[in-house]
Amino acid sequence: MINKKSIRDAELSGQRVIMRVDFNVPLDKEVNITDDTRIRAALPSIEHILKQNTKLILMSHLGRPKGQVSEELRLTPVGKRLSELLSKEVIITRDSIGEETKKIISGMQTGDVALLENLRFYKEEENNDDGFAKALAEYADVYVNDAFGTAHRAHASTEGIAHHLLGLAGFLMEKEISFLGKLLYNPEKPYAAIIGGAKVSTKIGVLEKLLEKVDVLIIGGGMSYTFLKAKGFEVGHSLMETEKVSLAFELIKKADEREVKLLLPDDHLVADKVEETARVKTVDTNAIPPDMIGVDIGPKTVRAYKKEIKQAKTVLWNGPMGIFEIEKFARGTNQIANVLASSKATTVVGGGDSVAAVNKFKLAESISHVSTGGGASLEFLEGKDLPGIQALADK
Ligand code: ADP
Ligand code: MG
Repeated sequence: MINKKSIRDAELSGQRVIMRVDFNVPLDKEVNITDDTRIRAALPSIEHILKQNTKLILMSHLGRPKGQVSEELRLTPVGKRLSELLSKEVIITRDSIGEETKKIISGMQTGDVALLENLRFYKEEENNDDGFAKALAEYADVYVNDAFGTAHRAHASTEGIAHHLLGLAGFLMEKEISFLGKLLYNPEKPYAAIIGGAKVSTKIGVLEKLLEKVDVLIIGGGMSYTFLKAKGFEVGHSLMETEKVSLAFELIKKADEREVKLLLPDDHLVADKVEETARVKTVDTNAIPPDMIGVDIGPKTVRAYKKEIKQAKTVLWNGPMGIFEIEKFARGTNQIANVLASSKATTVVGGGDSVAAVNKFKLAESISHVSTGGGASLEFLEGKDLPGIQALADK
């Protein structure tokens, strides 16, 4: 088990707290925030810390400025939105470690909140430069990490800084560790994992690890065609990774040896092109036309998957069942999301696109845990040590 100290376990009264948050929000062309979920998600930790008569310094990255100042990627709109949500002033600095900023931070009063400028304006951030980490650490007495989405990266604000300050998990980080840790170390059985999305190649590590953990492995989406090819089926023009067919074959064999039930789609929605106006039909796995593309799982498959999911006590879902961005191909993903939402099991959804699907169908509230990290949640479930979590203090 991973047992890290959180802000729940610490006395913060009178301290200066620096917290890494994930304010990497989507912006439109006029730099308006189009979705403030990530800012709202940090409020419980922020409010908890502020209640204890502290000074709070927040820091985040936004987009990929690659070590240079980019006017469109300033955190100013984020700071303004945060100020509205907190109903209090947020001090927004022009950089992260400049002289002027140092002065502003040292002048903070108890109860003040400051937001440092985009950390990735400095190449030192992603290089995990110790001087940069130390400069950030000098602002505070204690460090909090509430940005799970970047915990798989050893950056100055996620890893380096914890060499200079006591590191605690924020509430979001604590929840991620608790749910994903349970899946990794002690899932309630039966445990079913549904893995979909585009490619086998991006999910090899997690597929291999899951075969050691789960009772049922359910495959959908684009990657199912590489598995079906390995079983000798023709898949037409569906997404298929020729160089991963033998790996898929090995995974099928491994599932068999471990007595893990591995489910592949029995039927499919196939289309003549990947567009809303496509001509579509439903076909069985042994009848995929040579000139068509598998774009979604079919109704028989949904029924079979539903039956398995209903029997499980733990369900992990990563990767959509079809090209759900296109309305016509979204049905399988929608139905599987609904099965999870109505399940009494512990349900966890991880992965950028799967989470987007759950949000699109407005089902997030009915899922036990919707992970905020795409790459980070996959690496966690592979059993890898995440540097941003490793760096925090043990309980
Ligand atoms: P996640 O972000 O949840 O981990 P991935 O990034 O692995 O998921 O995959 C998401 C993408 O997979 C989506 O853009 C979706 O359109 C695509 N996809 C799903 N099914 C298919 C399919 N049958 N053919 C091609 N692409 C697919
Ligand atoms: Mg994705």
